[in-house]
Amino acid sequence: MEDHRVLDLLRKLTGPIGVPGMEDEVRQVLLELVEPLADQIRVDALGNLIAVRRGRSPFRLMLDAHMDEVGFVVSYIDDQGFLRLAPLGGWDARIIPSHLVTVVADDGRRVPGVVGSTPPHILDPEDSKKPHRLEDLFVDVGARSAAEVAALGIRIGSPAVIAYPFVELDGRRVAARALDDRAGCAALVLLLERLAAGGEPPVTVVVNFAAAEEVGMRGAQVAAYQIEPDLALAVETTAAADVPGVPPPRQPTRMGAGPALTVVDRSLVADRRVVAALAAAASEAGVPFQYRLPSAAGGTDAGAIQRSRAGVPAGVVSIPARYIHAPYGVLDLDDLHRTVDLLEVFVRQCPLEGLGPAPAMPVVEDRSGGALRRAAPGGDAGAAVGTAEAAGDGAPPRPQQAGRRGRGRGRGSRPLRPGTKSDLFRQLYDQGKSVLEIARETNSPYSFVYGVIRRYRARREQT
Ligand SMILES: [Zn+2]
Repeated sequence: MEDHRVLDLLRKLTGPIGVPGMEDEVRQVLLELVEPLADQIRVDALGNLIAVRRGRSPFRLMLDAHMDEVGFVVSYIDDQGFLRLAPLGGWDARIIPSHLVTVVADDGRRVPGVVGSTPPHILDPEDSKKPHRLEDLFVDVGARSAAEVAALGIRIGSPAVIAYPFVELDGRRVAARALDDRAGCAALVLLLERLAAGGEPPVTVVVNFAAAEEVGMRGAQVAAYQIEPDLALAVETTAAADVPGVPPPRQPTRMGAGPALTVVDRSLVADRRVVAALAAAASEAGVPFQYRLPSAAGGTDAGAIQRSRAGVPAGVVSIPARYIHAPYGVLDLDDLHRTVDLLEVFVRQCPLEGLGPAPAMPVVEDRSGGALRRAAPGGDAGAAVGTAEAAGDGAPPRPQQAGRRGRGRGRGSRPLRPGTKSDLFRQLYDQGKSVLEIARETNSPYSFVYGVIRRYRARREQT
């Protein structure tokens, strides 16, 4: 994956404006990007864009990244033509004054405006020490009257963001608006590209580009209801605070240290098996990772998905970014690359080799003798993770497990041919290389290498 490709994608995805519930521009860009990569695409009533990549098993892995960004809507227009703003999503009002905002007019036109602030010359010394409150700030779009504002196509409810151009910084880092969570959207587009290039994934991957996360995970909540995932990951952008003045225990993540795995945040306690499987996938992929320091702050769509229907095992993979929920975020391209690497391995191994043993939950019998447990989706996916059958103490293997094993054995029973590419993969694997490293070193598709190594490992375990 080359940097210029990723830069193009980030530029393309951070350009559109999409405040919560008004993600149309972002959705259109994503729709064009994923349309050739998915078996099925739909847009639901709340504006979620759902792309399905069918796999060998009906087990559904939901991967979610939100399209919306923190922003504003115009909340008042006065006689002189000044606008007031109401926030959509979590803003720090201290950082808003004097910025350039872009208001989106009814016909989609971008209208620039300046967030006005009182000049220091006329401020009381006492007032100059106080931060501005959002309700005291106003936007000057150059209009002389409310009528001129109306003529621009701006009305109560018009969306607005603080907007500056995408910038490439030194050191393979970028500064952009809306990296939270267009960087996650970019990661999932890149993942879908790899899955399309690497043949049928072992499980069905359902990607949800979610609406309205920043106002309480509204899109993901209804998307999860429709998708009924067996397992879910939110692919997010989270605060990196490795900056001057913040002691290490207060830095949720560090930029450049790889994807961050959530253990606990405000919205969820991540499923421990999912966290363990993600950590295993990271080492398999040969990428460094970090744990996001547990805290009662910050939530993600995983929190809403985990609590949908009868509950879904869920986790979060985050790309660290500095200064999120601010005019500019800063992101390290390596963290994005590594996040995609980790996700690809997770999908390729999921759930058979990715999840550890499920908690031994008793199957409760009702008086008529029927087991109170979830019906097998599609008649095949079998007991979802978290039921007694998946616990594995003498339980029969799930249908897709048997199928995959059968297939693997069939191929693996061919005699080894020394000197083939497969043989080279095995030798490199024995030298301690990860699947990803082997794929890179031999310039081979990841899925090909993974298939060879998986069968090799299975064979070694049998003997
Ligand atoms: Zn986010």
